[in-house]
Amino acid sequence: MFKVVMKFSVSDSILTIKPYVPGKPLEELEREYGIKDSIKLASNENPLGPSPMAVDAVRKALSGLNRYPDGSGRELIRKLARKHGVAPRNIVLGNGSDDIIGMLALTFLNPGNEVVLPRPSFLMYEIAVKSADAVPVYVPLNAFLSIDLDRIREKITPATRMVFLCNPNNPTGTTVTDGEMEAFIRSIPDHIIVVVDEAYIEFVRDKRCSSTVRLVNETSPVVTLRTFSKAYGLAGLRVGYGIMAGDVADLLNRVRQPFNINSLGLAGAAAALEDTLFFEKTIKLIHEGLDDLCRALDRLNIPYFPTQANFFLIDVGMDADEVFENLLKQGVIVRSMVSYGFPTYIRVNVGLPGENRRLVDALKTVLG
Ligand SMILES: *Cc1c(COP(=O)(O)O)cnc(C)c1O
Repeated sequence: MFKVVMKFSVSDSILTIKPYVPGKPLEELEREYGIKDSIKLASNENPLGPSPMAVDAVRKALSGLNRYPDGSGRELIRKLARKHGVAPRNIVLGNGSDDIIGMLALTFLNPGNEVVLPRPSFLMYEIAVKSADAVPVYVPLNAFLSIDLDRIREKITPATRMVFLCNPNNPTGTTVTDGEMEAFIRSIPDHIIVVVDEAYIEFVRDKRCSSTVRLVNETSPVVTLRTFSKAYGLAGLRVGYGIMAGDVADLLNRVRQPFNINSLGLAGAAAALEDTLFFEKTIKLIHEGLDDLCRALDRLNIPYFPTQANFFLIDVGMDADEVFENLLKQGVIVRSMVSYGFPTYIRVNVGLPGENRRLVDALKTVLG
């Protein structure tokens, strides 16, 4: 395969990208293992399903599929601006927040530029950085598995153009406090974009951690990323957005594909914002499920890592790939953290109460 690629002129950077491996789809697992009624706790999705109001809106939008969507996403942007107390020009919509990460790389990174990244964190950052032939500079998490802001600051050089932070961090569920975040941003030179990915911020219970949307203004280098894929239950619809200085948004809008959010996504996301009942039900379900799971693991003396997100790390005390395989045979899909550098950890997200019980029972069986 290497040889075939090499007849093209492709940067070494692209050749070092490991394609993103998504969580296994249920159907595929059931076919492979010949089982039924399996559960997926591997991709941090909303276990309640999609917001019913979003589903209604999507259904209504179907009859307009012959038309191009509103390329400026006016209605959705207006609602988001109101929700976050910013101007519409501060918001850029993405085909998932992954799309915004790609646009940021395309807009701001040139070959050889450096980007400082925590590791382990969300893999899309490094894929975007390498796609732009820029250089990822990795900073390991600290002893508490939190993002090490001091070490990130130390890694900044004249070649640095961007920093990625994930708050809460995926896969650890750890957060950076408001005080730490503000001090960090103040200490970073103005020309360096600080991307703060808040895919799970809605689940945070620690009062010391809030959204960096409050730090966005016309001179700020902060780009806050949010998504409809987790708390809003719309991962399949692909809608995310970034909140940033208007000038930064203008630049992203130059590279943005004009119809990057399809008409179903625009309609569904706008309706989901109104569905406060579904949103509140989701948050309550996740918090209660998390507490139940932690109590059950405590009873079994299985160590886990405290979290502020809808997922957490469990230390299975043996090869996590093996535990992953054995859980699969019980019909429970989780993520092994071996490839993230945690050889004995799995990552699971909170499911419905029955799914959480299935997980605990399966762990009991697999870990003996
Ligand atoms: C799930 C997730 C996202 C969301 O990506 P979308 O493209 O919006 O679905 C973003 N960042 C992190 C860290 C995630 O885990």
